[in-house]
Amino acid sequence: MSDKLLPCPFCGGEAKIISHGKPYRKVLGGQTYRTTVGCSICTANVSQAAFSKDKSCEEAAAAWNRRTNPPPLPLTVEQLKALNAEPLKHWVWIEILDTSAFSAYYRTYADYTDGKEFCCGWPGVGYSWDYCDYGKTWIAYDRKPEEGSQ
Ligand SMILES: [Zn+2]
Repeated sequence: MSDKLLPCPFCGGEAKIISHGKPYRKVLGGQTYRTTVGCSICTANVSQAAFSKDKSCEEAAAAWNRRTNPPPLPLTVEQLKALNAEPLKHWVWIEILDTSAFSAYYRTYADYTDGKEFCCGWPGVGYSWDYCDYGKTWIAYDRKPEEGSQ
């Protein structure tokens, strides 16, 4: 089984095969095997049973890896600093994880904090978020996560 397992859709944790190889149930046609693929952090998992060990593994991996639209990846702090350094303004989706503001598209401003905070806002309203809190209270994406990948 060499198929790569995608990270957990709930917490981003590493996925692994949790159980494999134990006979599961005798049924007409042979011995079935069941495989579970799950998250090593939050224990979210999928199970699949099939007539052979390899097949159960393949099916569990495929079931685990099946996704709807893959979510956009968060921008890195380096990418955000580069955007703030450009005179050209960009729209960035900021996901707010506390109650300091609300999640929305914000337009980049030229950096006035010397690389300590990400500067953005709308005409007449400026915001800046501390890079120290990145991933804790705010996360930036190039597009709104719910919009999917099309
Ligand atoms: Zn997880």
